[in-house]
Amino acid sequence: MQIAKVTAIPMSAPVPNERRHRTDLGTKVKSDATLIRVETDSGLTGIGAALGSPPIVAAIVEHELSAEVVGEDPMFSERIYEKMYNGSRSTPALQRGVAQADESRRRGVIMEAIAGVDIAVWDVKSQALGIPLYQALGAVRRAVRGYASGGWAPGDAAEAELAGYAAKGFTAAKMRVVGRDGFSIAKCVRRVEAARRGLGRDVELMVDAHGSLEVATAIKLARELEPFDIAWFEEPVSPDDHAGQAEVRRSTTIPIASGEREFTRFDFQDLLERRALDIAQPDVARAGGMTEIRRIAALTSAHGVRLAPHAWGSAVLFAASIHVAMAAPNCHILEVSQGYMPMMWELFNEPFDIRDGLVHAPERPGLGFTVRADALDKFRYVAGPEFEF
Ligand SMILES: [Mg+2]
Repeated sequence: MQIAKVTAIPMSAPVPNERRHRTDLGTKVKSDATLIRVETDSGLTGIGAALGSPPIVAAIVEHELSAEVVGEDPMFSERIYEKMYNGSRSTPALQRGVAQADESRRRGVIMEAIAGVDIAVWDVKSQALGIPLYQALGAVRRAVRGYASGGWAPGDAAEAELAGYAAKGFTAAKMRVVGRDGFSIAKCVRRVEAARRGLGRDVELMVDAHGSLEVATAIKLARELEPFDIAWFEEPVSPDDHAGQAEVRRSTTIPIASGEREFTRFDFQDLLERRALDIAQPDVARAGGMTEIRRIAALTSAHGVRLAPHAWGSAVLFAASIHVAMAAPNCHILEVSQGYMPMMWELFNEPFDIRDGLVHAPERPGLGFTVRADALDKFRYVAGPEFEF
């Protein structure tokens, strides 16, 4: 079997006016994704998805990655990943056994495009094997705990919002440190207090700062939140300040989580060496696809760090994240977005199986999902940024 064609399709889902709201990231006016298709000469087609600006991802796939992947056997998924990562130096890199990344491919949107192609290669490979993708990776479970990822409500309204997630059956829920009422330590503590009332003592509660605080404020906030039994404090400081994150971790009893904006095992290696985190959150569509996230899972497990994959995007990204969760022994929980995301819930013919707080693995071959006939028309790409300020 050979890969015959690789294509990238930019997609968007505009957010209707009445669903728009301002957060620390700005006002979200649309969601973007790039659907990747890997077609083979045997008639099988795999799908993947990439984060990053869709027209740029599409240009990278078309002008750079496609030529490197066409003609390869999808069973050689490690070789295909290394070929994309090492670029023109892939032959000496594999002969010498030394990674020799192409200058521009180590991080950023090119790595996001590589991740998208890699997911599609794994989809087609496991379809050819006739087994679900997570079993091709090496299965460890058929279901994993999911956590409700939301929590934007201001002030005491956080109580009802978080209680709603528990009522859906979730045994863990995450809220944003910056609510719709903006940020101060007092405002955040009030919202967390309300959220804890809404959840009771038995549902885990996590908080996420999106890397928006400076070290001193993050430490002060963490200490104020310690009485509320927080399961993790996510991205307390900028992802470019690993040393600062380690400082926050040393200053609080709350476990520290991060990783959604990191690329490849090399970024995680730095976080681990600095002892900056307790829970790693690589995004399969950013960190390097199935091939690289599996290496990240193994690396983090050697440091006693658990895996909670970041999953915020299209249905393809969520499906890929499910397979990661089913195959990584140190994965304990998976993010289930509670935001407005039609590309997560209306892209596939088959629904996701989420019951009683558990996300269940699809049992069909490959990724296990097919794109709806009307989806490409419905999610036609719209130019412009995802956030307005
Ligand atoms: Mg986050």
